[in-house]
Amino acid sequence: MKMRWITAALLALATGAASAQYPTKPVTMMVPYAAGGPTDTVARVLGVAMGKSLGQTVIVENRPSNGGILAPEVVKNAKPDGYTILIHHIGMATIPALYRQLRFNPLTDFEYIGLVNDVPMTIIARHDFPAKDFKEFLAYLKANKAKVNAANAGIGAASHLCGMLFMSAIQTDLTMVQYKGTAPAMNDLLGGTVDFMCDQTTSTTNQIKSGKVKVFGVASKTRVKSLPDVPTLDEQGLKGFEIGVWHALYAPKGTPKETIDKLSHSLQEALKDPVVNQRFADLGATAYPPDKATPAALEAQLKSEIAKWGPIIKKAGVYAD
Ligand code: ASP
Repeated sequence: MKMRWITAALLALATGAASAQYPTKPVTMMVPYAAGGPTDTVARVLGVAMGKSLGQTVIVENRPSNGGILAPEVVKNAKPDGYTILIHHIGMATIPALYRQLRFNPLTDFEYIGLVNDVPMTIIARHDFPAKDFKEFLAYLKANKAKVNAANAGIGAASHLCGMLFMSAIQTDLTMVQYKGTAPAMNDLLGGTVDFMCDQTTSTTNQIKSGKVKVFGVASKTRVKSLPDVPTLDEQGLKGFEIGVWHALYAPKGTPKETIDKLSHSLQEALKDPVVNQRFADLGATAYPPDKATPAALEAQLKSEIAKWGPIIKKAGVYAD
C-alpha cells in the first residue's frame, strides 16, 4: 500500500516537473485535411507564430480523411503531454450529429486550448463555368442538375456543410464529389473536372484574385474586406445564408493544466502578432481576440455550436454511415 502511494507520488512529481519544463522538444499540430488546404494554411501561419513563444518548433502534420474524422481520433489517443495537439474547425461541432459511429467525442475526449479565427466561405466555380453572375449560376444549376458536380472535403467538412445548406437554400439536389480536403478538390476545380464548391477564403482568395476560378458570392453576413467586390449570398437573394468557419486548438484529455496554460498563452501571443493578423486579413480571416484564445471560451463556443447545428443537421437527415 505504502509502496503504491510512494510510486504514485513520484509519478505525480515527475509529471509536474515535466510540465514545468514543457516544452523541451517540438510540438506536433495535427491537421485533419490535406496539405495546402484552408485549415492547413491556418495551421502553418499559427504554428510559426506559436513556435516563437513556446521556444520550440511547431510541426504541422496532415492526417487527411474524408470529413476530417481521423486526426481527432489520433490526437485523442496520443500521450497527453502537450506534444501532440489538434487544430480543427466547425466540424468538431457538426461531426457528432453527422456520424452515428464516431470514435471520439469532442466534448469529453479533449482539453481545450482556445479559439483561433473565423474564416468566411465563398462559392467558387471552374473558370469556364457557363455563367457570368449568381443569377445565371443558379439558373444553370437548376437546368443542369443531372450533370453538375459539387466538390467537398467529405461529410463533416465545412465545404460539405456549406454545400448542403446551399443546395437546400436553392432547393436543388446536386451530386457531391468527396475529397480528403479542399486542396485536392481545388486541383480538380482548376483542372475543370468538377464544377463548383464552397470553400474557405484562406484557400480561395488568391485563386479568385488571379482569375483562376469564378466566384459567385461569399457566405458571410457582410462582404469580406479582402474581396470587396464579391457580393454576399444574402445580398443576391439567399436571405439569411451565413456560415462562418471557426478554428480552435485541442489537446488529448488529461494533458496537465500547466501545459494547457502554456499552449493557451502561446496561442494568445500568436493572435497578437501583427504578421499573423496581416496574413489572416489578406486571406479574409479574422483572428479571435486573445481573451477568446482560452479553454473556457472554446468550451462555450463548442457547446453552443453543437446546440445550433445538431438540430439543423438532424432535420436535414444527413448521415455519414
Ligand atoms: N477545411 C478543410 C480543408 O482544409 C476543408 C473543409 O472543411 O471543407 O481542406
